[in-house]
Amino acid sequence: MIIKNKELSEVEITEKVICNCCGEEIKKNAHGYLQDYIHIEKKWGYTSENDGKEDLFDVCEKCWFDITKKFKYKP
Ligand SMILES: [Zn+2]
Repeated sequence: MIIKNKELSEVEITEKVICNCCGEEIKKNAHGYLQDYIHIEKKWGYTSENDGKEDLFDVCEKCWFDITKKFKYKP
């Protein structure tokens, strides 16, 4: 048997995304969805000089392609 209660809860909604690289806002399309971008979360581990540090950032599509142009092996 399942007994349920009604309960209100808060939900976090992304209001705005800013590209960490160029500083431009990731715009929404005509349907209200954000244009595509990359979100990276990295927690550095024991073998890193940044052990324990956590990096979080967002990069727009244009900046991502500019960054990856510098890669020796393209993604
Ligand atoms: Zn950008």
